[in-house]
Amino acid sequence: MRLSQMLLVTLREDPADAEIPSHKLLVRAGYIRRIGNGIYAYLPLMWRVLQKVSQIVREEMNAAGAQECLLPQMQPAELWRESGRWDTYTKAEGTMFALIDRQQREVCLGPTHEEVITAIARDMVRSYRQLPLNLYQIQTKFRDEIRPRFGLMRGREFIMKDAYSFDADEAGMKVSYQKMNQAFHNILRRSGLEFRAVDADSGAIGGSGSQEFMVLAEAGEDEILYTEDGKYAANVEKATSLPPDIESSPFTAYEKRETPETETIAKVCEFLKCSPTSVVKNVLYQAVYDNGMVVPILVSIRGDQDVNEVKLQNELVKLAPQFGGKAVIGLTVPDAESQQKWLSKPLPLGYIAPDLANSYLKPPAPKSLDEGAHPNLQATKFLRLADRTVADLKNFVTGANESGFHVVGANWGKEFELPQVVDLRKAKADDRALHDPTQILKTARGIEIGHIFQLGTEYSTAMGATYTNEQGEEVPLMMGCYGVGVSRLAQAAVEQSYDKDGIIFPVAIAPYQAIVIIPNVADAEQVATAEKLYHELNQAGVETLLDDRNERAGVKFKDSDLIGIPYRVVTGKSLKDGKVEVVQRATKAVQEILLTEVVDTLRSWIAEALK
Ligand code: ATP
Ligand code: MG
Repeated sequence: MRLSQMLLVTLREDPADAEIPSHKLLVRAGYIRRIGNGIYAYLPLMWRVLQKVSQIVREEMNAAGAQECLLPQMQPAELWRESGRWDTYTKAEGTMFALIDRQQREVCLGPTHEEVITAIARDMVRSYRQLPLNLYQIQTKFRDEIRPRFGLMRGREFIMKDAYSFDADEAGMKVSYQKMNQAFHNILRRSGLEFRAVDADSGAIGGSGSQEFMVLAEAGEDEILYTEDGKYAANVEKATSLPPDIESSPFTAYEKRETPETETIAKVCEFLKCSPTSVVKNVLYQAVYDNGMVVPILVSIRGDQDVNEVKLQNELVKLAPQFGGKAVIGLTVPDAESQQKWLSKPLPLGYIAPDLANSYLKPPAPKSLDEGAHPNLQATKFLRLADRTVADLKNFVTGANESGFHVVGANWGKEFELPQVVDLRKAKADDRALHDPTQILKTARGIEIGHIFQLGTEYSTAMGATYTNEQGEEVPLMMGCYGVGVSRLAQAAVEQSYDKDGIIFPVAIAPYQAIVIIPNVADAEQVATAEKLYHELNQAGVETLLDDRNERAGVKFKDSDLIGIPYRVVTGKSLKDGKVEVVQRATKAVQEILLTEVVDTLRSWIAEALK
């Protein structure tokens, strides 16, 4: 491609709305253009990058035995009602674009395709002889992200590769999952990215396992905890660790103490001269279920620890049937205003004990006489949960349910009843690892590029996707799903690889591998040599651009650095010696190479880089 004929407009200034380097660079280098909030045009250079990424994805998926297809982007609401996700996706999480057609039928723009693929499997897979099966597609997804940002990283329209596996049993599903795990490793390695596969939260779906693939970058929205022995890595949402040891409590007898102005753990510990590891802290939350039920929650956790809200959310989903709901649509630390809705009197904030009386809550609303009226759904008891860190505490300190007072020397089973114990603790950097307490957790930031998931029979059961097994029984299909953010991956590559002059694309996904620059288009020899090289390189399979624009050499060098083409060939001064200057974008290393050797040299460098 000749730059003189290409739509390439580079900008000197960073776009005002771009916060992170990759977003700024992709806009400045003319790869993407913002069309609306979270909506971008992929310009010709970007489209080539996306096709390269897609091709790598495709090769690895095909090699793993998956088959490519293309599913509809517009999906009927009925399918989502069958899986039970219509309401959560249109109302609660609200990330689905739903619309009503001219015949008043509800449809949506696919944020994901579990429903569609399960419907296909239900119709077409009858027998175990058709299994295993893995179908994938590469296509645009739509999600009404509440805060689209960082360019392609979090768009409302983006390209995803999604694959879905179907197996006869759990063992089969695990084999399919392992194949995808390997394919994802290959995709990221081949794309030239530095990444880590981490244990991930599988959310409310449960299932037996899920992993995320994180590209390591400061701008990443996720925190990863890992150990240097390489044996443990997890998203902080999912991470577990050993909490610091308990320092034994200085109290031996139960008593109530006046502890003025000690609303915080630090203050009460200083006042009572004890360690936060002897304190039971009681944190207030408020959950709202999909049926409208509001539940105030008290979490008891050790004074030096914090609650992991993802773990709490997962527990609340498990408890949903108890509250007549299916999904949790809100989990917050309630502010004074929302507390007012369910409190009958002010709370002794900062001095709450695990047995805070239920009488703080408003009594149940009187039954409406009108049968059809929507009842005022509100729990009349606190939901009490204890993190594992408090279960073994002896002679602990906690609030006295009275402002300015704590109790000391308290014990479960004596002064307080131990609530249901669950793991709600947030693991932190510097904690000891569970698999080897001499290993200390380190922290890093990552961009989630892929997520692989053992779904089990969640969707197949809900949608009646069954097959006949070898014993002749009708049983639900075992599923897995595997997503890669193709457009996010392309931008993450930039986030991981740039310098002050611009993008440094990994060779494997660069839009072009080489660029031939004519410093002076008025010089006939420069032009003729460049034209010849440009043809020879392309003919030899080196994807090459020709900068034949009538621009100053400096402008051309700047642009080629900015767009990040791996190898730059300049037909300049050294032509008199039968040579051209070849510059490697990543290292800026300059070499003069004989004209007769340019093609072979570049070919061998590229082959080496693609290994
Ligand atoms: P996130 O936590 O970042 O919102 P997710 O858990 O919603 O991601 P999945 O539903 O697992 O993501 O989608 C698979 C992949 O699609 C993700 O790993 C990510 O690479 C990509 N992806 C998800 N949402 C977006 C988006 N809004 N813009 C670009 N890529 C996205
Ligand atoms: Mg998301």
